[in-house]
Amino acid sequence: MPKLLTIAEARQAVAAALAPLDTETVPVAAALGRVLAEPVQAAGDVPPFANAAMDGYAVRSGPAGRALRIVGESRAGAPGEATVGDGEAVRISTGAMIPPGADAVLQVELVSVDGDRVTLDDDVAPGRNLRAAGEDMRAGTTVLEPGTRLGAAELGVAVTAGRGELRAGRRPKVAVVATGDELVAPGTALAPGQIHDSNAVTLAALARAAGAEVGETARAGDTREQTERALASALDGADVLVVSGGVSVGPHDHVKPALEALGVEQRFWRVALRPGKPTWFGTRADQLVFGLPGNPVSSMVTFHLFARPALLALQGAPFAPGPVRGARLTQAVPRSPERDEAVRVRLDSDGDGGLTATPTGPQGSHVLTSMLGADGLALITAGEGEVPAGSPVVVELLHAV
Ligand code: AMP
Ligand code: MG
Repeated sequence: MPKLLTIAEARQAVAAALAPLDTETVPVAAALGRVLAEPVQAAGDVPPFANAAMDGYAVRSGPAGRALRIVGESRAGAPGEATVGDGEAVRISTGAMIPPGADAVLQVELVSVDGDRVTLDDDVAPGRNLRAAGEDMRAGTTVLEPGTRLGAAELGVAVTAGRGELRAGRRPKVAVVATGDELVAPGTALAPGQIHDSNAVTLAALARAAGAEVGETARAGDTREQTERALASALDGADVLVVSGGVSVGPHDHVKPALEALGVEQRFWRVALRPGKPTWFGTRADQLVFGLPGNPVSSMVTFHLFARPALLALQGAPFAPGPVRGARLTQAVPRSPERDEAVRVRLDSDGDGGLTATPTGPQGSHVLTSMLGADGLALITAGEGEVPAGSPVVVELLHAV
């Protein structure tokens, strides 16, 4: 038996096999979850003009007790004509332009108004309640780098920087095929020996959450012919094919020979990982194929570790493992002597600035409920005996959705 690949070696093999897809222009409002393909620079200063941080009166700085004449109003979006001279004030709303002549704003709570006169009840230092132009972004500054995945904050920053459209990596087209004679569609009554095909749903959901367009999900029975037909059709037009099940060494595991017959070249098979040892990966020209083990937890874990970074990298993000956190185990965890273990854990505050990691329950690769409430995968390196409670572990974060 050849030596099993480590998680890192398997990831390197995936990273080495892929090249980013082409790019396209998308309206910023439709760019959530996309990977930016260009730098975004601020078109102008943000804010574009000095403005009020409070509702109140735009004034010249000076001591408390001054009674000023109200000479106009500056509202958000309607600056007005008035300027502020000595002995004068302009009523102003939050976000409204500071009128010429004023260098501060005194909030409405600290003044007394009588007709067209306002008395300032506090000293006013220069710049008080004033947001200077460019405090958030200076014109020309790069505020978003290519390769950034666009979340709500990034989209808002792009808009503020002046953009209505963004160049982004094309979404990979992903096909999902679940293999197994025992599988039936969600919601179907089960005959003896049957189970519901949950993997097609979880894997498609994970692919979408990683920015992919999931075209086809299909089920194939455990014959060589059915497997090959389903895989051939799924490969047609897909950038990435994700197959579940049928990659082990049983007599009914047809995925590997079927893929080989379809011209998909094996890059690796089997990783020193629990759950997820039979993971298979291959390529056909620019197409990537992940053969993930059928156990529902194994398929989710291996998708997370190998397919998710690949989908993001196809869109132009750097190929990178998920973000990690350090935490301490709240209970002892048994170790596998040969394989690194991805333990599903919940993260909590330890009350002292650190994190604790608590396994989500029984960790069998068929116990899909162990994915519920899991914040991440504690990657426990292979070894003898168990890792005692209190040990530090590295947790690779799973992503919401
Ligand atoms: P396999 O990798 O095909 O040997 O399958 C391993 C285990 O995962 C078996 O218990 C299968 O019944 C189960 N399994 C395979 N495919 C799925 C699926 N799509 N949804 C849920 N369980 C599955
Ligand atoms: Mg099977």
